Amino acid sequence: MTGQSADDRRTAAVAAAVGQGVVGAAHPVAGLLDVRGIREAVAALREAFAEAGGHVEVLHAFAVKAAALVPVLRLLADEGLGCEVASPGELALARAAGVPPGRTVLDSPAKTGAELREALALGIAVNADSREELARLDALVGSAPTGSPLGVRVNPQVGCGSIDALSTATETSKFGVALRDAGARDWLIRAYAERPWLTRMHAHVGSQGCPLELMAEGVRIAYELAEEINGVVGRQQIDTLDIGGGLPVNFASDEVTPTFREYARLLAATVPGLFDGRYGLVTEFGRSLLAKSGTVLARVEYTKSAGGRRIAVTHAGAQVATRTVFAPESWPLRVAVFDALGRPKTSEPVPQDIAGPCCFAGDLVAVNRPLPLLEAGDHVALLDTGAYYFSNHFAYNSLPRPGVYGYALAEGGSDGDDDAVRFTPVRVPQTLDELVAESGEACAAGLTALG
Ligand SMILES: *Cc1c(COP(=O)(O)O)cnc(C)c1O
Repeated sequence: MTGQSADDRRTAAVAAAVGQGVVGAAHPVAGLLDVRGIREAVAALREAFAEAGGHVEVLHAFAVKAAALVPVLRLLADEGLGCEVASPGELALARAAGVPPGRTVLDSPAKTGAELREALALGIAVNADSREELARLDALVGSAPTGSPLGVRVNPQVGCGSIDALSTATETSKFGVALRDAGARDWLIRAYAERPWLTRMHAHVGSQGCPLELMAEGVRIAYELAEEINGVVGRQQIDTLDIGGGLPVNFASDEVTPTFREYARLLAATVPGLFDGRYGLVTEFGRSLLAKSGTVLARVEYTKSAGGRRIAVTHAGAQVATRTVFAPESWPLRVAVFDALGRPKTSEPVPQDIAGPCCFAGDLVAVNRPLPLLEAGDHVALLDTGAYYFSNHFAYNSLPRPGVYGYALAEGGSDGDDDAVRFTPVRVPQTLDELVAESGEACAAGLTALG
């Protein structure tokens, strides 16, 4: 089965998930992760940067928010990746996965003093997001020695992609030091010159909806500033450029486009000095490493019709596909449909709404979508949901966090043989007891006792 495509693997995994009861009456929705697909995405990333500059030292740090699951971080570490973390929780996950501090980068616009102190004590790389945060680093660096590589995040203000909420380098973005604001460039040059321990520069321009050219332009601007600073101080003080993540993902088909190779080639063409060996590089890709390897699989509980519209009521809605439900124009998802045994349905497409279980009218993952007619007991799969979907659960209606399972196909297994697909839990389904406990059970009498 080694020649199988990601689509073939997913089709086999859906049938096996239904056949083996990974998704069933007790657990009507689950997330599925294609282990081989993840390994292949990482290999593509590594190869793309090795091709662009074989002798450059690169730390590919996975943006943990895209799939905040310890076994995923461990798998990625096994493939040579580090972690980019942006909260104490994400740092704890990276540590639980065994990612060493030297392969961890802390970025966040709101790091507390305690977080900064811990990061510096551990030797984790930190990018200061603002002038005020740099002042906090001054105090910490002055009070105790640290092995942490330290940098400043700059906002190259190159403009907006097609999704406002994900455009990090607009004129007024909340991230980094806004480079084109009056006096900012001179201030930064002085800030580096006065702090020989500032050895990194960070920019993260992208995310879904950003053209590659805009991302590369942001990197070029950060690179030129680093060159200027190194020129002013007369040495290679800035020795590492953190170029962020943000490669967009194609949600319209199984094709992987754009590719890491295209981006690395564009970077090499736009910023040739990036790969000449004078700078080490850090990348922070998230979505593009995981999205295509994830599937939300859910049972159709009921079907109905309203005002002439066919509606399939499923167990996958805003709790697992939050962005798609609340911003459907920006985050359309493909829906694949399967019968009660998990086999692809191929009947004539009929326009249908694919609804979720949440109690608000807008809980729809697809509207008027032509699909083979669904019946109760069938299954729907939300494709390309390996990043920012089931790993970013939204606790609406106290719906429990569904289980997430990795899958792999046994070598030499044959089509239609469910047992050829092996599953391993990545996150076990949340129980109702756990859900009640985290909803204040231990404080049950608190309010009545207060007055
Ligand atoms: C979210 C984020 C990333 C990852 O973005 P993707 O679009 O998932 O690749 C990288 N760096 C920073 C600073 C981020 O905030």
